[in-house]
Amino acid sequence: MSHPKSERTFVFIKPDGVQRTLVGEIVRRYERTGLKLLGLKMLVPTEAHVEKHYMLHPGWKKTVGEKSIESYVKKGKKPPSDNPLVVGEQVMERLKKYLTSGPFVAMVWQGAHAVGIVRKLTGGTEPLSSDVGTIRGDFVLDSYVMADTDDRAIRNLIHASGTVEEAEAEIPHWFKKDELVTYRLVQEQILYDVNLDGLLE
Ligand code: ATP
Ligand code: MG
Repeated sequence: MSHPKSERTFVFIKPDGVQRTLVGEIVRRYERTGLKLLGLKMLVPTEAHVEKHYMLHPGWKKTVGEKSIESYVKKGKKPPSDNPLVVGEQVMERLKKYLTSGPFVAMVWQGAHAVGIVRKLTGGTEPLSSDVGTIRGDFVLDSYVMADTDDRAIRNLIHASGTVEEAEAEIPHWFKKDELVTYRLVQEQILYDVNLDGLLE
C-alpha cells in the first residue's frame, strides 16, 4: 500500500466560482490545510469532455438521480420524476450547459487523506443544506428546487472527487502527465516527519 500522504484528489472550480471571483479564496482554503498543489490550469471544457468526466463512474446517473429524489422526499416535496435515471439524464444535460458556459479552473491536490479533506472543506452538493463553514455553505445559496424551477444545474462552485478511485480516473482525464509537477514542499517535514528531529539548534 502506498503511504496515505501520497493520496491525490481532483478539483475544478466551476464557471460560477470563477465569475464570483472565488478562485483565490477556494485555493486558500485547501492550501492552508497542508495539502500540496501539483497542477492548476484554466480552461473552457467541451460538452463531450464534461459528459465523459461524469461517465467515468459507472452508475453515476442513477446515484445522482436518487440523491436528488431523496432531497425532495426529505423536505416532504414531490420530486419532478420518480425514476432516478430520468432525473440523472436531466442533470447531465444541465451540467453540460453549466460547465461549458465559461472558464473554469482545474486542480490536483496531494496529501494525507486529500480526497476526504477536500470534500469536508467543500461541503455537501446542495448549498441550501451544505454545512456552515464549508465553501458551498459559506459562499453560495442554491438548491434542488431552484435548479428544477429554472431547469438548470445546481450552482455549487466546485467539483471534487468523491473517492480515491474516482480521483485516479479523473486526474488523467483532465491533466497530461507533464502538466503535474512532483516536488518536495518544505512544510511536509512538519506535517509528516516521524521524529520531528533537527528543529532545535
Ligand atoms: P460534484 O461531483 O460536482 O463535486 P457532488 O458529488 O456533490 O458534486 P453529484 O451528485 O455528483 O454532486 O452531482 C454532480 C453535480 O451535478 C452537482 O455538483 C450539481 O452541480 C449538479 N446536480 C446534481 N443534482 C442536480 C439536480 N437534481 N439538479 C440540477 N443539478 C444537479
Ligand atoms: Mg460527485
